[in-house]
Amino acid sequence: MDYLCPVCNGLAPLAQACQRCGTLLADAGRLYDYYGDYSPYREIDDAKLDNGYPDRRNHQCLHTGWCNSCQTEQTVAVQEWTPDKLLDE
Ligand SMILES: [Zn+2]
Ligand SMILES: [Zn+2]
Repeated sequence: MDYLCPVCNGLAPLAQACQRCGTLLADAGRLYDYYGDYSPYREIDDAKLDNGYPDRRNHQCLHTGWCNSCQTEQTVAVQEWTPDKLLDE
């Protein structure tokens, strides 16, 4: 079954509050973009296996959120959607 990240695909905003102040974080892009500017999906999957996060098994996409109040980056795990979820929308 295919999973896709709703944030990466523009289907939903990154809805995550700052852990410190509660301000809604701005989406600073996918964490994986920092590994290089030429990464196809195959390499993203490999990165998921190597970065220590259990996101591949849990079907989560890691994003970097930015809090304008705290001026800090925070990693946000976005739950990926299945085709079933898409049909429900
Ligand atoms: Zn994503
Ligand atoms: Zn904050």
